[in-house]
Amino acid sequence: MLRQPRQAGDFPPASGPILDALIIGGGVSGLCAAWRLRRAGVENLLLLEVGDQLGGTALAGTLQGRPVAWGAHYINIPPAEADCVHTLLQDLGVITGYDAAGRPQVVPEYLLRWPHERLFIEGQWTEDLDPGAGAGAGEVEVLRQFEDDMLRWTLYQGRDGRRAFALPLRYSSRDSVLRELDQLTMLQYLRGKNWNSPRLDWLVDYACRDDYGTSLAQVSAWAGIHYHACRYYDRRLHDQYPADTLTWPEGNGFLVRRLAAKLASAQWRSQVAVLRVEPSGDEVRAGCIDTRTGECFSLRAKSAVYAGKLHTLPSVVQGLPGPQLQALGALSYCAWLVAAVQVSRLPQSRGAPPAWDNVLYGSSSLGYVAADHQQQGALGQGNRVLLYHLPLVRQVAQARRQLLERDHAFWAGQVMADLRQAHPDIEEVVERIDLYRWGHAMVQPLPGVIWGEGSRLRDQACGALSLASCDTTGLPLFEEACFAGIRAAEQCLARLGKGDETLLKGLGDG
Ligand SMILES: Cc1cc2nc3c(=O)[nH]c(=O)nc-3n(C[C@H](O)[C@H](O)[C@H](O)COP(=O)(O)OP(=O)(O)OC[C@H]3O[C@@H](n4cnc5c(N)ncnc54)[C@H](O)[C@@H]3O)c2cc1C
Repeated sequence: MLRQPRQAGDFPPASGPILDALIIGGGVSGLCAAWRLRRAGVENLLLLEVGDQLGGTALAGTLQGRPVAWGAHYINIPPAEADCVHTLLQDLGVITGYDAAGRPQVVPEYLLRWPHERLFIEGQWTEDLDPGAGAGAGEVEVLRQFEDDMLRWTLYQGRDGRRAFALPLRYSSRDSVLRELDQLTMLQYLRGKNWNSPRLDWLVDYACRDDYGTSLAQVSAWAGIHYHACRYYDRRLHDQYPADTLTWPEGNGFLVRRLAAKLASAQWRSQVAVLRVEPSGDEVRAGCIDTRTGECFSLRAKSAVYAGKLHTLPSVVQGLPGPQLQALGALSYCAWLVAAVQVSRLPQSRGAPPAWDNVLYGSSSLGYVAADHQQQGALGQGNRVLLYHLPLVRQVAQARRQLLERDHAFWAGQVMADLRQAHPDIEEVVERIDLYRWGHAMVQPLPGVIWGEGSRLRDQACGALSLASCDTTGLPLFEEACFAGIRAAEQCLARLGKGDETLLKGLGDG
């Protein structure tokens, strides 16, 4: 629908009063933009979402009455510097207060229940995500050195006093020695340390595919280190600051629902695609289509936020400057298959008991999450859904086409073949497999994406149209979407002449 260029004449002239703010896209960044605008007293706003439901890649659905997270399914307790995320999570009733040492406290039911993770390696399940099981002394030593190196980066402060790897990422130190890490791949970083361990390679590759849909050989070393260093994951820091996982039966759809509840029913519409946006200095005109009825209409707004994925922006806004077009054109997105595997009981396992996250060593998938883990509390034996994740990270254009063209039987067969290695009785327990295909799932933080010249251009407003979505900063994370939405909303507030104290104090003068 977006690929076909639209002219102004394709839409009737705008009728009705001008909006203060129009938000295009009802994913996390668009919803956070709306939340920020309303917090500053802007009520004359409208959020438009092309999908049937709000949420974007944090979409939740139901299967036979059970909640299912088709996209994002967890966040972590945000690090101390993530000011805007703290404010949001307090307002959404997730963070309930802070202890005397400043550590956030959260609603206990939102904390991931244990056991957290297990790994299928060498023919059996082992507790946690430690690929050292059965490894020789040399590899165990390399894994330990890597862990120490990530601890060093977690605690590292730049000369400017900022954390080396902060969240949101734009709060990070600006030291050039750190930013140069964005020119390397993570594989080059590991080899530069003389670490040649297949198990370490697997661990880091798994983490990058899991969070960024990008492999070890592709991902920027800055992004690869950020995964391990932005939160206080190391058990040696456990008492200093929590890094616990927060999750819900419907995944981040829970946060979406709470954000949506902040909007009045007249402030958002789904099943509306914005096909053409004409931004000028003091006004934005938008040509829209109701995808249910086919009705075209136009809107005018004093300010607007584009919170869709940025590769689609040139189809919607014509005449973008050449360098900005180039920066957007350079973005690459992985594709992603999510399979909801309904089972009559948990399949048999050798070794460690079932966990929330069940990871298969050496698989191109990420394994599966026991989706109703939170709901049932203890991992019982009853009927449940296993949410299987397969990011397609290489040759993404071809992978995307195959994801679309190959049928249900093909993909269900792939899922079963992968699960069979860890669960020989899988055929006996599977009742049904539902698939969700994400064509452009996540922006890939390849070298240069985070701190290269393009990153500045991805932020650049087009007249009164500001850009949000986590593509602006380059890491596909809830916290980045939250930051990007709030930043775009604050640009709108400035345009509307509504001075309000920023929620992004961590940006400082940058
Ligand atoms: C399978 C999967 C698992 C993930 N897991 C996690 C996780 O566990 N934790 C985590 O933090 N992150 C996860 N992510 C990353 C997730 O993408 C981000 O956390 C975040 O939700 C992105 O939000 P966004 O607003 O930037 O973009 P999107 O989610 O892409 O939202 C953009 C929205 O804009 C709409 N839109 C676009 N163009 C138009 C238009 N022209 N008109 C109207 N509407 C339009 C789209 O339909 C969409 O709803 C996952 C992503 C995927 C795909």
